[in-house]
Amino acid sequence: MSYKNFPMVSKVIFGRGSFNQLSDILEPNRLNTSAPFIFFVDDVFKGNPWLTSRIPLSYQDKVVYVSANEEPKTEQIDAYVEDIIVSFNERPSGIIGIGGGSLLDIAKAVAIMINNDGESKDYQGWDIVKNPAVYHVGVPTISGTGAEVSRTTILTGPERKLGINSDYTPFDQVLLDPELTKDVPKDQWFYTGMDCYVHCIESLNGTYLNAFSQSYGEKALELCEEIFLNDDLPSEESQDKLMMASWHGGMSIAYSQVGVAHAMSYGLGYLLGVKHGIGNCIVFDHLEAYYPEGVAVFKQMKAKHNITLPQGICADLSDKDFDIMINVALSLEPLWENAIGKNWKKTITHDTLKALYKKM
Ligand code: NAD
Ligand code: ZN
Repeated sequence: MSYKNFPMVSKVIFGRGSFNQLSDILEPNRLNTSAPFIFFVDDVFKGNPWLTSRIPLSYQDKVVYVSANEEPKTEQIDAYVEDIIVSFNERPSGIIGIGGGSLLDIAKAVAIMINNDGESKDYQGWDIVKNPAVYHVGVPTISGTGAEVSRTTILTGPERKLGINSDYTPFDQVLLDPELTKDVPKDQWFYTGMDCYVHCIESLNGTYLNAFSQSYGEKALELCEEIFLNDDLPSEESQDKLMMASWHGGMSIAYSQVGVAHAMSYGLGYLLGVKHGIGNCIVFDHLEAYYPEGVAVFKQMKAKHNITLPQGICADLSDKDFDIMINVALSLEPLWENAIGKNWKKTITHDTLKALYKKM
């Protein structure tokens, strides 16, 4: 048995208002006055001085506003990298992502691609990246994905939706300021929070489970249940808790894997552009056969917060469409092996998935 030796985020700061310290954190990492910091910021914050006035800009530093309406694409990353390379004489001092999982993934991918030749689609997969990334910093403004701690950046490419998984992907620095999540709309709070909940259920019920993953997964699950079953609207305390649940949930899957909901949600994302958080919810709602207790509690949480999930999203799909989704889902072999076991192909077939997708 050969054990994986994973890098982790090297520095982390936590606390309400810690965003005010961003300048102190970044300045020692400035290479010189011609090597800018580039901030990728969710455009939901455009024109919001409460956040943007605190982005510390000097010399040639630049803010790039990005919409998170669609999940990051490989060609989008390549365009940002090209723009940075032609606009500045020097490589950047650092790339900072401020936003949800989409913006965190964009920052990670751009930081990698600045120092690696070719197109980002060629790096989708495991351990293909050759050169270390530029210094990169993640500042989550919504909690749940675990993208702040993970070793992947999930991109939709011409052929597949797959992460760039590498030792160079994790952030060098993460800033956790729960106050930044205060204006997240309630439905999005639920969907992204449920991403964390599903990470816990898939990790804790998977065949890859080990004491490392279990210790993080159990803590994250406990926090999710406190937040989504007991607390009312997101309070300051629950914002703090959810930020840490996201972190622990991400740590839990780092040393195990996700499972059925993620595999099938990737299919929905690839074909229909359904976003990760809501996609997981749509799928998980139908997975009582695989995760009976987890799904029962999920339904309680959904009811408590009056969340209505879209129905019938696969109603008008052709057989070809189903094939595309099913092939994407089945290609994620480690997820199925974790969920079902080494012999997963005996029970998980094209027809099994088609029957499930047809319910959604
Ligand atoms: P997101 O980044 O797509 O954002 C969701 C919505 O919330 C957007 O409309 C955004 O504008 C809004 N938003 C974010 N912060 C806000 C705030 N403070 N106030 C108001 N609105 C705010 O959502 P997400 O669920 O965090 O991330 C999903 C993405 O993360 C997907 O692309 C998925 O593939 C990726 N992901 C990555 C990993 C990883 O390990 N790298 C893990 C899970 C998911
Ligand atoms: Zn997820």
